[in-house]
Amino acid sequence: MTRKPIRFIDLVAQQERIKDRIDAAIQRTLAHGAYILGPEVGEFESALAKFCGAKHAIGCSNGTDALSLALMAREVGPGHAVFCPSFTFAATAEVVALIGATPYFVDIHEDTFNLDPKSLERAIAEAKRAGLTPAGVISVDLFGQPADYTEIEPVVSEAGLWMICDAAQAFGADYRGRRVGTIGAMTTTSFFPAKPLGAYGDGGAIFTDDDETAAVLRSLLVHGQGADKYDNVRIGMNGRLDTLQAGILIEKLAIFADEIEARNRIAANYNDGLRDVAIVPTVLEGCVSTWAQYTIRTPGKDRGAILARLKDKGVPTAVYYPTPLHRQTAYRQFPAVGNGLPVSDRVAQDVFSLPMHPYLAADDQAYIIESVREAIAA
Ligand SMILES: *Cc1c(COP(=O)(O)O)cnc(C)c1O
Repeated sequence: MTRKPIRFIDLVAQQERIKDRIDAAIQRTLAHGAYILGPEVGEFESALAKFCGAKHAIGCSNGTDALSLALMAREVGPGHAVFCPSFTFAATAEVVALIGATPYFVDIHEDTFNLDPKSLERAIAEAKRAGLTPAGVISVDLFGQPADYTEIEPVVSEAGLWMICDAAQAFGADYRGRRVGTIGAMTTTSFFPAKPLGAYGDGGAIFTDDDETAAVLRSLLVHGQGADKYDNVRIGMNGRLDTLQAGILIEKLAIFADEIEARNRIAANYNDGLRDVAIVPTVLEGCVSTWAQYTIRTPGKDRGAILARLKDKGVPTAVYYPTPLHRQTAYRQFPAVGNGLPVSDRVAQDVFSLPMHPYLAADDQAYIIESVREAIAA
C-alpha cells in the first residue's frame, strides 16, 4: 500500500476546511477595492486584541518589521545593548543590528530552549562594563512556548529595562493565566504562512497595553506620519498589513482556538509515543504551547543518520536551528555572554522537529512515532 505523503506542515488541509470563507473574504476586498488599510485591517486588529486580551493590536507587514517598529518606538540606537537569545530565527537579532544597536547574545534553558534569566543577568552586567548602555530585552517564545516570565521579569525590571516578547511562533499560547500578547512592554508576532496563525503571504502584528506606544507604532508604520501622511513627525517605514491578508486572517483566526487544541492533542500523543527513546519537549506547568514546532533531542546519537532514515520512510523533518546566531558569519562580531553559549551550542547539535499541524491524521501520527522509534534504534 502506498501512503499519502506526510507533510511537515499541511496548509492544504486547512484551506480545504475554510475554502468557501477564504474565497468570499478575498472577493469582498476585490469588490470594495480598499487594498491598503481597508476595513478588514481594523476588524482583524479588534479580533486579535480580543483573542489575547491586549488593549491594542496593530497589524503590520511581517514579524521582522514588527520587531523593528517596536525598537523604533523605544528609540533604540547606537551604543544600546539589546539582549536576546542566539538559538532563534535570525530576525530576532537582525533588527537590533539593523537599527545600529548591539545585539547581546544570552544563553537559554536546556529544557525549554527559552531565555535563561541567570545568563541575562550576567549579560547586563558585562554590557555595562563594556561601556554599552543596556536598553532592553527581546525574549523569544521559541517553538510556541512562552519563555519563563516569572523568572525573567524581575531581572528586566531590576535593571530598569523594557522587554519585547518575540512571539512570532507563539501567538495563541498561555503563560500561567496570562495570554501571549499581554506580556512585556510590547509583543510582536508573525503571520508568515507556516506559523501557527499564518496568512497567504507576509503579515505581522504588535500588541501593547500602552496608548502612547500604540499611537507611536501606528505613526511609524506609515512613514512616521503626524496629522496626515504628508505631515511626517518621525522617521518611520512602510510597515502596513495588506487588506487582503487581514481578510484571510479573520477567517483563520475564527478556527485558531480549535487548531491550538488539535496541536496540543498531537503533541501529547507524540510525547506518549516517544518519551522513552528521546528527550521530548518540556512545557512549563500552567502553560499552553501553540506547537509551532514539535522538537525532540537524541543526544549522543547521529542526527544526520536518523533524519536520513526518516526521509527514506517518508517522514519529513527539519532542524531548527542548526547554527546559533552567535556562530554565524553576520553575527559573530557581536558579544555573547561569558565565554560562549554552551547550552545553545549543545542543543543546536541534536534537536530536530517532527511534522506538526492541526490536521495530522491519527494513523500518520502513529506511523511517524513508529518510524522515529525505528530510526533512533537502528
Ligand atoms: C518567523 C520569525 C520571525 C520573523 O517573522 P517574519 O514574518 O518572517 O518576518 C521573527 N522571530 C521569530 C522567532 C520567528 O520565528
